[in-house]
Amino acid sequence: MEAIFLSLFEKGLIHVYTGNGKGKTTSAMGLIVRCVGHEGKVAMVQFMKGWPFYGEIKGLSYLPGVELFRTGSDRCFKKGEHTEVDLREARRGLEIAERCLTDPKYDLVVLDEINVAVHFDLLKVSDVLNLISAKLASIEVVLTGRYAPKEIIEVADLVTEMVEIKHPYQKNVLARKGIEY
Ligand code: ATP
Ligand code: MG
Repeated sequence: MEAIFLSLFEKGLIHVYTGNGKGKTTSAMGLIVRCVGHEGKVAMVQFMKGWPFYGEIKGLSYLPGVELFRTGSDRCFKKGEHTEVDLREARRGLEIAERCLTDPKYDLVVLDEINVAVHFDLLKVSDVLNLISAKLASIEVVLTGRYAPKEIIEVADLVTEMVEIKHPYQKNVLARKGIEY
């Protein structure tokens, strides 16, 4: 029997959450919670996030209708210091994102840190523009991460820049479990 998908959105829009202040990824996760409350089906594809201790790995697993796809190695690295593994993982994320954005079962697809993957030269801006232009009309997509390129900002319908005014990091408070990860 053929599956029947009841889309939540007639016209899915493109969001970008960028900037150097805290709240980009967690804001996308807030949207996921809201969408799930209307029986929405969600995919979150994470780039450069192979580190296995993020709270959202288990947290999102409690939500029905949410699938999390994690890519990236588990180490931090500076721009220009990526390896073949980082490149391969980013390509894998791109392929997963393509599949999700063309699958009518999803209402919302979050591409977490995809902007950073572009900034770190793991993906090309054109890869992401092609990805977005191929998305199904019914899917809302969120691209998170610092350094969103202007080409992506141009095609987006909603762009929010998180601006750092204060962060406890400035007072040497280290990343805290349940808050930063
Ligand atoms: P969050 O995941 O908490 O919503 P984010 O997605 O806005 O943060 P990223 O740029 O992805 O932030 O940052 C990665 C990590 O650094 C996260 O653990 C995040 O909480 C933390 N962080 C975010 N903004 C700042 C900041 N201005 N100074 C120091 N650490 C930050
Ligand atoms: Mg983030």
